Amino acid sequence: MSGNPYPLGLRLAGRRVVVVGGGAVATRRVPALLDAGAHVFLVAPELTPALRAHVDAGRLHWAPRRFAPDDLDGAWLVQVAVDDPLAAASVSAAAAERHIFCVRADDRAAATAWTPAVTRHGPVTVAVLGGGDPRRAMAVRDAVRALLDVRKGPLLTPAVEEGSLPYTPAGRVALVGAGPGDPELITVKGWRLLTEADVVVADRLVPGLLLDELRPDVELVDASKIPYGPSRGQEEINRILVDRALAGKFVVRLKGGDPYVFGRGGEELLACAAAGVPVTVVPGVTSSIAAPAAAGVPVTHRGVAHEFTVVSGHVAPDSPASLVRWEALAGLRGTLVVLMGLKNLAAITATLIAHGKPAQTPAAVVQEATTGAQRVLRSTLGAVAADVAAAGLRPPAVVVLGDVVDALAGVGPEELPGSPLAPGGQA
Ligand code: SAH
Repeated sequence: MSGNPYPLGLRLAGRRVVVVGGGAVATRRVPALLDAGAHVFLVAPELTPALRAHVDAGRLHWAPRRFAPDDLDGAWLVQVAVDDPLAAASVSAAAAERHIFCVRADDRAAATAWTPAVTRHGPVTVAVLGGGDPRRAMAVRDAVRALLDVRKGPLLTPAVEEGSLPYTPAGRVALVGAGPGDPELITVKGWRLLTEADVVVADRLVPGLLLDELRPDVELVDASKIPYGPSRGQEEINRILVDRALAGKFVVRLKGGDPYVFGRGGEELLACAAAGVPVTVVPGVTSSIAAPAAAGVPVTHRGVAHEFTVVSGHVAPDSPASLVRWEALAGLRGTLVVLMGLKNLAAITATLIAHGKPAQTPAAVVQEATTGAQRVLRSTLGAVAADVAAAGLRPPAVVVLGDVVDALAGVGPEELPGSPLAPGGQA
């Protein structure tokens, strides 16, 4: 085939796309078609489990048989994902007859359309064709992706609204969970928004290395340094978020763990909403699950625990301000995860025991989980408060109570080689 390929962005929403074949190639191609909103019609005698999951979820239609030419009636595009050249050629022929573009995994020379290597950055899609060499396309795509990741320019920032080009970036706020401590445990979306921010308002618990990589012109507000009591401090943070956004800035409010787990993310969302500032919320890996995991404790385990409860221990059990029914928690069989619990640990454990939770219940405390300073202490409900004091453990720490503490018999997770922050030794 001669002539340069002519690039297009196909808008497939609601349009019939036929995929022939149910193996590895189809498994890789179908998600982007579904993401584009296509009505995917899949013809294949057998499916991979991943494709079957799409069928079971009702995301695509499956004809469990071999291809027939009139499968293409009404289609806008066909993807041939079979190895058998004869079968593929018959699909090609049926497509050519109907003037439908045909992508062929087995033979790009016979194809009438090529799938590019793609990288997506929010509203921007970059598609690369390698002149028939898919490896070259992928290499160029990877280079472009790396450039876009460091460019962090305003070009990729706002969601471009239809018909609004050229746009002026409007102010907005993203509440982003930074994860528990290891800078690699932020989500891909959280990381992208962070690299696009004009202003970053960060918590004390946010991994410092994430802030290290911000552009020099980004305004960094250290929320833990705001001088006022806890509630005045929150008002001040809300004011900063709203003011900067109303001034047209993209503000990332970066919070330890998940923004909504004892993170006051809801208050910030309400403050922004009241001021008419649009807010995106990006969930994070919460320490309530990640800290036990980092110490080799699964919060659930088959045959051991069918529930886990996350509770804040920052208010003493006998305080009138407590919203936690510790006596009810004492009666649960499953895993109990206590955040902000070190200060009141003696009172909390005594209350649980007084209401019937066995004093021999296994306990673990994980300080600064997933960082190089991680410390892990194993004990029992009856002894843990004294053991924590003797070992000198400090916040931030997560206390986990329940039989899951022993479920993996201390076989901790292996760190991948080269991870800069492999957890430290056990206390
Ligand atoms: N939004 C956070 C929790 C904020 S409350 C999250 O989802 O993880 C702060 C408490 O979280 C700390 O007192 C401590 O109990 C826990 N915590 C946060 N990061 C931690 C870490 N790396 N190791 C142990 N505990 C942590």
